[in-house]
Amino acid sequence: MTAPDSPQDPLSAPAPNAAHVPTAAQAPTAAQTPDAWRLLEGAQRVLTLQAHPDDETLSTGALLAHLAARGTRIDLVTATRGEEGETVPGSIAPDDARSFVEVRAAELDGATRSLGITSSCFLGSPPALAPGADARRYRDSGMRWVTPQLAGPAEDTGPDAFTRRPVAEAVADLEAAIRALRPDVLLSNDDGGTYGHPDHVHVHTIAARAAAAQGVPLIEVASYHDADAQADDPSFARRELPGTARAVEGALRAHRTQLTVLGPAAAEGAGSGVAGVDAAEGAGSDVDRAGRGSSGAASGIRIVLSGGQERVVPLSAGIRVHREEPVDAR
Ligand SMILES: [Zn+2]
Repeated sequence: MTAPDSPQDPLSAPAPNAAHVPTAAQAPTAAQTPDAWRLLEGAQRVLTLQAHPDDETLSTGALLAHLAARGTRIDLVTATRGEEGETVPGSIAPDDARSFVEVRAAELDGATRSLGITSSCFLGSPPALAPGADARRYRDSGMRWVTPQLAGPAEDTGPDAFTRRPVAEAVADLEAAIRALRPDVLLSNDDGGTYGHPDHVHVHTIAARAAAAQGVPLIEVASYHDADAQADDPSFARRELPGTARAVEGALRAHRTQLTVLGPAAAEGAGSGVAGVDAAEGAGSDVDRAGRGSSGAASGIRIVLSGGQERVVPLSAGIRVHREEPVDAR
């Protein structure tokens, strides 16, 4: 793996914070796989690439809130504007003159504020735009449910879709963001794509290539549908992050066209709180300021997605350091 104090961009001087090394007090216990958490918590600047507005919250909300609370600078690049997202009925007022894309961008702004994210831009817009290129948009590729937990490609994906645009362009745009923002660590999905959404899988590909090209370590977030296997997979180190409940709930409530917040999901035991797992009833009460539900520590926030599926957004994260594999020439 690459240590936090390794040279980052061979073409320029190390970032001022590149020599930062986590102290013993910040280090995780030896019982956990230490590398990914030590690397992430030792980073002063984290750049995260997400597929759609709401993924920063649904996929990594607790993790980003945890890092922000520690004082980490977090720069968010969102690949698409979520054009294909379904809408919670009644979530947009009839007299709202904004486009759907404008509404989702405003929701994203609300979520980034709640999580403590420092800056936010879309892929294809500065600073996530390759030098000399005109600003460009990567459109939401859409999806269909293959199983209740696993998504697959939509049948009518158009030529503007993120997954059908040249990979080299998206990689070049993300590389520009890396050069401008100088992250110590890049954070993105694993190759399972959270729950298999084609854009989420594609985000992993783009992040892995840009990280390799720029010499920045990539930390992968474990996919939901691997949740059961992940408990036994020592390559992912999972941590509960219960102190993030307030920030995560606020960010979830910002995405009101995409989901409805039901309330905290109480812990059932170690490893609970993974999305899709039917955790103990939270009784619909609000999360209190300590992030605890009425029956103990909250393990997640229970929501209903726009399509009607109930989920628990975990107040935990499983992460690992991406191991670089040979990739085809781009
Ligand atoms: Zn998404």
